[in-house]
Amino acid sequence: MKKLAVDSKENDDLSNHRHNELTHVTQRLRRVLSKEVDVSVGHQQFLADIILEGKALLDVSRVSIWLFDNAANPTRLINYANTDWDGLISSPLPELQVTDYPIYFRTIVSGETISARNALTDSRTSEFKDGYLKPQQIAALLDTAIFQNGLAIGVVCCEGRFHPRDWLSWEVVAAELIADCCSRRLLVHELWQMQQQLTEMAFQDVLTGLKNRRYLMDYAKSEMSRHQRADRPLSLLMIDLDRFKKINDKYGHDGGDEVLKRFSDCCTNLVRAEDCVCRLGGEEFIILLPETEVASAMNVAQRLREEAAALKVAYEGQEISFTVSIGVAEVNLNMPFSKSLKAADQAVYQAKAAGRDQIKLAL
Ligand code: GH3
Ligand code: MG
Ligand code: MG
Repeated sequence: MKKLAVDSKENDDLSNHRHNELTHVTQRLRRVLSKEVDVSVGHQQFLADIILEGKALLDVSRVSIWLFDNAANPTRLINYANTDWDGLISSPLPELQVTDYPIYFRTIVSGETISARNALTDSRTSEFKDGYLKPQQIAALLDTAIFQNGLAIGVVCCEGRFHPRDWLSWEVVAAELIADCCSRRLLVHELWQMQQQLTEMAFQDVLTGLKNRRYLMDYAKSEMSRHQRADRPLSLLMIDLDRFKKINDKYGHDGGDEVLKRFSDCCTNLVRAEDCVCRLGGEEFIILLPETEVASAMNVAQRLREEAAALKVAYEGQEISFTVSIGVAEVNLNMPFSKSLKAADQAVYQAKAAGRDQIKLAL
């Protein structure tokens, strides 16, 4: 009877100890996860705080984060972040192929946590014995799946070196919490990427892939203040395709679209990387030329006019030729951008009136 009472007290103590450990670990991880991080910097950096915390909490030799190439049908595990043995961030570890480690892949995909006391002999991890474990002197492994939408998308790998190790139940739970932290952080990263894509789409012309009017208006504003501060000239070209309606009439709307795409490529190839080519709408384009005097802008316009006139757009076995009328203006940095656009538009109108395939300088 007496012995039983002692056992029960020991069990209670142990249980309290585990509970305290877990509470402590949970709190530390939740605090780490609550911090605002910059997810634009790459996995190694935005997961660093979680894996370093995990390494310290579990007192392991290394923590690494691996993601499947394709969660629905994984063939490779790619290392995205890892602590090095001494706590510093190191370079990525080589990829793991499902063909080399089928049992391990199957176990992780099934969602089972692997707590291998001796990784060399454990049936789930012994595949790693010669190529991975022995050379790095890894003896114990605690690996747990990172889930998203109910699917294992990767794994958190906690490695102990030199000696086998009994993993305590709170340590297993802690590793799973680390995996959940990674899952949430990866979700934030995914949302950020989607937001980037949406922003990109909002500023892009669908047909040509050029920037659109919305982008131009924002960009011109910021470029104007930059040029004003630096007292540098900013110029613009407004380009309108000549008699474009006739092209549509003759070759159909798709033929017209092909011309718009080819002309867009022509503009992009002709200008410098820092110049901004936009499709204003329809068959009208703007090129903003930073740090450019109007005389140089006239030269760019001349080259563009010649290239457009020489271009033969292949469409359904035919060749479509066209010309452009261009208005050139130096942006007035002391006036709203719309004034400079209007001045360039009037120059285009004059070019049209003068017979098209012409360049006119805005007054
Ligand atoms: P001008 O030389 O005076 O500029 O004559 P134009 O025919 O080029 O000018 P107008 O403004 O009369 O016609 C422009 C045409 O561009 C009419 C419109 O149907 C066509 N257009 C506008 N957007 C698109 C587009 O996305 N694709 C195609 N294929 N045509 C477009
Ligand atoms: Mg037009
Ligand atoms: Mg036109």
